[in-house]
Amino acid sequence: MSQTLFRNVQVIDGSGAEPFSADVLVAGNRIEAIGRQPGALRAAPDAVVVDGLGATLMPGLVEAHAHPSFANTPSMPALGDIPPEEHTLITMKFVRLLLDHGFTSINCAAAAKPRVDIVIRNAINAGDIPGPRMLAASPEMTVTGGLGDVRLSHMHRETFAVVADGADEFRRWARLFVREGADTLKINPSGDEGVPGAPAHTTVMTDAEVAAVCDVAHHHDKRVAAHARSADSVKMVLRHGVQIVYHATLADAEALDMLEAAKDRVFVAPTIGITWAAYKERGSLSADAARRLNHELELGCANMKALQKRGVRVLPGGDYGFAFNPMPRNARDLEHFVRLLGFSPMEAIIAATRHGGALMMQGGELGQVKEGYLADLLLVDGDPLQDISLLQDADRLIAIIKDGVFHKAPQDRRRQAGKLAAE
Ligand SMILES: [Zn+2]
Repeated sequence: MSQTLFRNVQVIDGSGAEPFSADVLVAGNRIEAIGRQPGALRAAPDAVVVDGLGATLMPGLVEAHAHPSFANTPSMPALGDIPPEEHTLITMKFVRLLLDHGFTSINCAAAAKPRVDIVIRNAINAGDIPGPRMLAASPEMTVTGGLGDVRLSHMHRETFAVVADGADEFRRWARLFVREGADTLKINPSGDEGVPGAPAHTTVMTDAEVAAVCDVAHHHDKRVAAHARSADSVKMVLRHGVQIVYHATLADAEALDMLEAAKDRVFVAPTIGITWAAYKERGSLSADAARRLNHELELGCANMKALQKRGVRVLPGGDYGFAFNPMPRNARDLEHFVRLLGFSPMEAIIAATRHGGALMMQGGELGQVKEGYLADLLLVDGDPLQDISLLQDADRLIAIIKDGVFHKAPQDRRRQAGKLAAE
């Protein structure tokens, strides 16, 4: 079994423990041993030895709301203009870019075509293309006039969502996406800023529609993720057992209570990145739109602070994938968590690693530097606890290891164990 020994690293293990100096031995795809006595761990003669020179070794990042097929297009309708073949290649490029930027796992929040996440996930798992661990999503299931319904009467226009009305139509789409192999079924029960007939505070799906999708997911052991900005949509999806609540920005007191009551099974990702970018960086906003976005940002940040205090798992993942909020700068969400949500850098890292491992449904083996855990690791030049923004700089990622294998190998720090012993 191949071995890699990291010597002289500062470990942020993802558990929340204080960082510590150690040597870390990886055997195969697992973390075999962590030695706090310098030089105490013994590696096989053919092991690769990496002298960390005091760099930070931490778990790989988990993106909680990934859209690798969203292609950084200027608009949502533009996603419908990409033919399937090009779209598959574009998605292949972006999953690699996310791994290049330290995301060793991505939980997809919606695919722009029914099978694109699925075939890319399968190709990664088969070792055919590089990419993170990946849970594949269905396209967004939305109602007529809801977020994602970009059709126009009398015009042909392909969309990135599927439009359904009534429980039977939702059930049919849900079954179809289960058949094709999606891990996560995505629904859009609330509206969104900029959707003319369905602004963010509105709730557009019915209980029966949400229940139909949740029922299919339940029977097939899949999860449902909900685009739920409005308070009523958060409550609605929690009533039906949805496990992943995206946004929750406009939650009211009752919705916060319900999220807290479900904290052992539910994950919240506010996607602050896209709201921030839409408000602060996109430009050409009407005064009304600016007011609404400002309100959503302020209330959303306050709500996430409250949820974090109440023990709800709030995860970074900022809906990156549009020209105004592009991939692969996804690690910017960790900085948003620190600057806007008041998380400490350690809390932001826990959210993106330990909680991320749980989100990937591998809580007992992913997201921490711990003996027996999967070796998804970053060797970082510097201390992200001092400056969380350095995780956004791919040049500061000295090494990226996924499943025990170097995706990015360190330059000038590697030697062979046998040679090292002889010196
Ligand atoms: Zn999204």
